[in-house]
Amino acid sequence: MVRALRMNPLKYLAGYPPELLAQVQRLVDDGRLHAHLAKRYPDGHEVRSDKALYDYVLAQKNEHLRNSEPLAKVLYDNKLHVVQQALGTHTTAVRVQGQKLKTKREIRVASLFKQAPEPFLRMIVVHELAHLRHREHDKKFYSLCESMEPDYHQLEFDARLWLLAQELPPPASPSAAD
Ligand SMILES: [Zn+2]
Repeated sequence: MVRALRMNPLKYLAGYPPELLAQVQRLVDDGRLHAHLAKRYPDGHEVRSDKALYDYVLAQKNEHLRNSEPLAKVLYDNKLHVVQQALGTHTTAVRVQGQKLKTKREIRVASLFKQAPEPFLRMIVVHELAHLRHREHDKKFYSLCESMEPDYHQLEFDARLWLLAQELPPPASPSAAD
């Protein structure tokens, strides 16, 4: 069976080395990407509500960034879809309170991460927490991510693969063999 792929499967992976992209392309072409991810990341999580997400984020923050400014809001956002957004947003909402401007930190995580393996949720949260200290995706930013989660780079790559897998047709059931 030939499964036609109209999308560009590598659109989430810009900037990664070509050899790596070739491996991903093979996994996609062979219909093995879902299985590849499921094997490496078998466990989901129970962080399903905004309240649960708030607690989850706060626990990570208290462990790694205790002295950073408090978070005003933490929530799942079902309007975040594309990968730049799915990797989370870091908004600094400015609200006028009387005469003075008050900055409030918010963390929004794309709702599709409710279904993600736990390590990918953790990666997103680490990413967003790192933005409390560093606005840009620069060296300092990524080294803070790594100090919170030593596997950060691998997890970010695999989370991108997972996002890609969400857009592929579901894997065929292995029934033809018997
Ligand atoms: Zn970012």
